[in-house]
Amino acid sequence: MSTKGSKTHLYEVLEIQAGASEQEIKKAYRKLAMRYHPDKNAHAPDAADKFKEVGHAYEILSDPEKRRIYDQYGEEGLNGDAGHGGVSAEDLFSQFFGGGGMGGMGGMFGGGMQQQGPKRSRDIVHVHKVSLEDLYKGKISKLALQKSVLCNKCDGRGGKEGAVRKCTGCNGAGMKTMMRQMGPMIQRFQTVCPDCNGEGEIIKDKDRCKQCNGKKTMNERKVLHVPVDKGMQDGQKITFNGEGDQGPDIIPGDVVFVIEQKPHPRFERKGDDLYYKAEVDLLTALAGGTLYIEHLDERWLQVNILPGEVIAPGTVKQIRGQGMPSYRHHDMGNLYIRFEVKFPEDNFNTPEKIAMLEEILPPRTVQEINPDAMYDEVVLEPVDVREQARAQAGGHNHGMDDDDDMHGGGGERVQCASQ
Ligand SMILES: [Zn+2]
Ligand SMILES: [Zn+2]
Repeated sequence: MSTKGSKTHLYEVLEIQAGASEQEIKKAYRKLAMRYHPDKNAHAPDAADKFKEVGHAYEILSDPEKRRIYDQYGEEGLNGDAGHGGVSAEDLFSQFFGGGGMGGMGGMFGGGMQQQGPKRSRDIVHVHKVSLEDLYKGKISKLALQKSVLCNKCDGRGGKEGAVRKCTGCNGAGMKTMMRQMGPMIQRFQTVCPDCNGEGEIIKDKDRCKQCNGKKTMNERKVLHVPVDKGMQDGQKITFNGEGDQGPDIIPGDVVFVIEQKPHPRFERKGDDLYYKAEVDLLTALAGGTLYIEHLDERWLQVNILPGEVIAPGTVKQIRGQGMPSYRHHDMGNLYIRFEVKFPEDNFNTPEKIAMLEEILPPRTVQEINPDAMYDEVVLEPVDVREQARAQAGGHNHGMDDDDDMHGGGGERVQCASQ
């Protein structure tokens, strides 16, 4: 057969034109796979080969990347790639029809088509907790990792060169297909190869590698230098390609570190901005003063509140450029400060001095009142915590009460009880 060099053979197998659409390829495969499926062709020995050929053609033509290579170079271009093996025709077929084979007799064809080609070991994912300081400044974390590596004494063979032989009982597959007569039918089934205990190969004890005891791999502690860059965000990933577990005929997966930002006692972070709660005393809030904020490097920020600038409780102000550096670009976010105001205690000064505030502060707001209404003069008390808890529990029983109603109701009850 000179199909290797051909760039149209696979299309011919599927009985379609070289420029066929994805949909046409799918349709053609579905039709031919049905026609040649071994369960339907017990008396046509050629059908099994045809079925495989159709599956193989579909595997390449349904993959845009493989199809592109095939169109350009023919099947030769795909050698070394998963041009052969990879996915079996049977697997492809079950992708179409949700597995299970056809008519419950899939088992008749189940054996023999071992998946080939290298597998990939799974990725090792590790959560790496990082302080906000380190995300601000950037750092290299040295993290140790236990992983499986090919034994360096036997180069991952498991024994002396030439001493490791493929098991002839199973042809290296580790599994063996057996046949059993069941009335008129011959049933085929798979079982672990008894000659090699499923290993697929046989090593004489004296030739077995002493270091790995024939296992081919060893555990190794490896230290990775993980670059935690300035401005990285919670959830961001740092990937070490191919640093995962090694094994014979396995492509190592990746090692992935997922950044988890630790909570910070002073700052909250949103994107590249930082949020800080500052408490100032009433005098500073009204007459100005200075506030110091410890930043994430060794600096302290000196924040001046100017006389005349009034800081009401809950005021938010910003300091430009004192947030986090942005990842890669290192533009600086902002620092937002939310102010709490600490008021003085009761009787913080003599009544005479306190009265002097009337000269300084803006006058009292005059409330508009209805002159015809009735006025009850009531007593304002510190809250009795236990009573409040009881009142709130009562309020919740109504289910629909919002905060205002609850306080109104609670207040009334307090008043009634005390009179
Ligand atoms: Zn075997
Ligand atoms: Zn070894």
